[in-house]
Amino acid sequence: MARNAKQEISSSAARQIQARAHQHGLELDYATTISESAYLSPVIASFFSGLLARQRSPWLVIVIRFKDDPPILAVKTGPHGPKVDLLAHHRRLFTKAGTGTMNMVDYFLDNSHGKIDVSDSEVVGVYTIPFKRADYIGNVGPQPAKINRSGVLDAGRAAAAAHKIDLTAYSGVVVCGYTPLDLCGWVGGMAALCDLNSLSPDLLGQEMGHGYGSDHSGLDGSTAEYGDPWDTMSTWSPFSASNSDYSRIGPGLNAVNMRLRGWLNEDRVLVVPRTDTVTRDVVLGPLHDHGLSAAALDIAGFLVEFRMNDRWDAGIPRPCVLVHRVQGNRSYLMSGKGGENDLVAGSVFERLSLLGTSVTVTVNSIDEKARRATLRVEQTVHRIHIPQEAVQEWPPRIGDPGPLERLSADPRISRLRERFERYATALEVADHFGTPDLALRSLAEIAEEIGRQTARVEVTTFHEGYSFHDGFAPGPDHVREPNQDHEHDHQDHVHHERDQQQ
Ligand SMILES: [Zn+2]
Repeated sequence: MARNAKQEISSSAARQIQARAHQHGLELDYATTISESAYLSPVIASFFSGLLARQRSPWLVIVIRFKDDPPILAVKTGPHGPKVDLLAHHRRLFTKAGTGTMNMVDYFLDNSHGKIDVSDSEVVGVYTIPFKRADYIGNVGPQPAKINRSGVLDAGRAAAAAHKIDLTAYSGVVVCGYTPLDLCGWVGGMAALCDLNSLSPDLLGQEMGHGYGSDHSGLDGSTAEYGDPWDTMSTWSPFSASNSDYSRIGPGLNAVNMRLRGWLNEDRVLVVPRTDTVTRDVVLGPLHDHGLSAAALDIAGFLVEFRMNDRWDAGIPRPCVLVHRVQGNRSYLMSGKGGENDLVAGSVFERLSLLGTSVTVTVNSIDEKARRATLRVEQTVHRIHIPQEAVQEWPPRIGDPGPLERLSADPRISRLRERFERYATALEVADHFGTPDLALRSLAEIAEEIGRQTARVEVTTFHEGYSFHDGFAPGPDHVREPNQDHEHDHQDHVHHERDQQQ
């Protein structure tokens, strides 16, 4: 019973510590080879494919103008010909009308591993809102008779509702100025503002991405916003690519930002268990590629990804391997030993730790033709040890393990030691993932175990005639007084016991 209970406690605690790491990804078994894991991947991927259901997420794009803005001229092709669709470009950019042209539909499908489908988005307008341009005060709090960013959002929504559009049919709203407007997004609010000068996927990927909850990405060692030029959540990025249709596109979303939104296909993430010492080669395909190649490596709290310089990433300087960590809702780009952020063949990323997991990732090669990066991955796990062999008795007595070893063999001590070791691991994991509750839970386990053990320690006494269990009540009459004849008392006691047995 006690043994079962102990096992239950241990395994549930282990689950808590590794919950983030494992998700439902493909766990790398030290014994398996690359070809074996490549064989396993489609099997596991198909098993979990039902979990990766596509999510319909249409946006309503409301194009607005201020009432004193220059009038929009409706150009006709001829006396009876159709009007030119003023918003044709908007429709190609935001809706299924432009699918396949690197528009927003393509952006969200590719950068969510097929999960977010905005193809049913619609564009409406141009609506005139009941404010003058001079009323617009931008990014400040509300003021009487003025209109700030939130005010424009509300005015756009109101204009659409006045045109009998059911806003509840859409997941989000983009209010797009036909004349200049701020560019911004509401984190988690499924709303964004833009104008004709910001109708490009590099910027809208970020602003609409804010809507789903994404925050700006950072560079490790800095608290500055927009620190990761390889990521949509840091645009304007020098690494966005020029595009003939939409001005500029990309770069794509990094793996951490994908995971934070639940968009990373975890079936395609190789997970190195935190508790294993591992040396092996790993092959990654490009992060945003469709298909079954491994899209990221999860090791020691870092996500490692491979990016080719094409499609969304056409503007990055070279094919590269990127390493990120996460803290809260923000990704941070790490750098290699040589200070470079984009790792190429020969680059080494290293994080050494005295208490927990040390990791070295070496880029063995990048094969541009085969679109894959081969990495050598080395992980070493250190643990805190409560000394088992502190001071040996000398000379050792044969057959006697000695007091310290007797103590360490005590299951109560080993249970405590286990919990301290898990706490040390949890501290590291909590640091990398920005989840302090992990370490706190682990600490609570230690307290719980100490509480459990001390509750079992019975207070005993050899003072005859008194018992703590009886609330210090006096015992039988024959209590031995100091200096009383010991022999007599002993005999009397034996007789008494016999009486009780009969
Ligand atoms: Zn932003």
